[in-house]
Amino acid sequence: MPPAPPSPHEIRRLAAVQKLRLLGTPAEERFDKITRLARRMFNVPMACLDIVGEKLAWLKSVQGFDGIEGLRKDSYCHHTVLDEGVCVVSDARNDPRVHDSAFADLWVFYAGVPLHFDGERVGVLCIGDSQTRDFDSDQLDTLADLASLAERELQVAALSEAQIALAHSHEELEMKARIDVLTHVWNRGAILDILAAERIRGAPGASTALLMIDLDHFKIINDTYGHAAGDEVLRVVASRLRAALRPLDAVGRYGGEEFIAVLPGAALEGAAQASERVRQAVEKKPVPFGGHNIPVTCSIGCAASGNASADEVTTMLLRADRALYRAKLSGRNRVEAESPTP
Ligand code: GH3
Ligand code: MG
Ligand code: MG
Repeated sequence: MPPAPPSPHEIRRLAAVQKLRLLGTPAEERFDKITRLARRMFNVPMACLDIVGEKLAWLKSVQGFDGIEGLRKDSYCHHTVLDEGVCVVSDARNDPRVHDSAFADLWVFYAGVPLHFDGERVGVLCIGDSQTRDFDSDQLDTLADLASLAERELQVAALSEAQIALAHSHEELEMKARIDVLTHVWNRGAILDILAAERIRGAPGASTALLMIDLDHFKIINDTYGHAAGDEVLRVVASRLRAALRPLDAVGRYGGEEFIAVLPGAALEGAAQASERVRQAVEKKPVPFGGHNIPVTCSIGCAASGNASADEVTTMLLRADRALYRAKLSGRNRVEAESPTP
């Protein structure tokens, strides 16, 4: 039997999701702040803000879970957007709505509040636990308060056009292909496309800057604390990069322990200042993991666009890479900038 056509309400809802333009886009600090707060306030292992598309639930910001999307049929949030009000699942294994979800054994407890945009329920702020728990009406109110903060953020378009265009150049089921699943930033192919797009989109004469950020002695972190600790350091560093930069700036994972940031409209001096802010944000606090506090630093090479030329992206990458090499050679945990050749 062909699937039932979407209801008029679902058609309106999907139109609002499209208008929101967040499906397929990477994590952003403004939403991470809210999910981090939710996880801490309710003392749960998982908190997530997701946008419910036609076939997928896109995990825009998630704490305590490695995924980036879930099929809508498996997502508890699918049920939350069907109704107004809070959706609480006390024991997923015995709940007729979700007992056949792929997550029923992992997220036994769930509470979600719908997020509205353009008058429609476009997404959900939710928390989850691997064991059943009680959830009283005060806690429901608190989750609803956090959701209203998230709704205010939904009203703000913060990403650059190049990032939004890239996210929307793909079918819903292929969106994940552009995001790094471990760190929830753009992946290598995507960040290079964004760099090229910023150069094409930028106003004539406007500059774009590039930061190449490489963690120092990362191999030692893996060797000392284990690979899982290394993964957590990468996640935390990605989140610190997002927090230290503007939402307009794009962050991507360029390689194993190497990130790139693209700063639209920035010249070399601004890039060097942003790099110093990033360097300090990474170094500021050790990363807690498995009872250890793991110190982390990074070295940064930055470059800005010069006169537009066909191979400009390649030469910018080369300059940033040379600057990074100098930062490593001169002792690490520092920033170096390379000017364009006149
Ligand atoms: P340097 O200061 O010169 O950059 O030294 P480094 O140790 O950071 O650089 P090196 O290139 O020698 O080592 C990078 C290490 O990153 C080696 C590799 O196993 C590790 N790595 C790459 N990808 C991942 C990942 O996804 N997770 C973890 N845990 N480790 C990774
Ligand atoms: Mg390194
Ligand atoms: Mg490296």
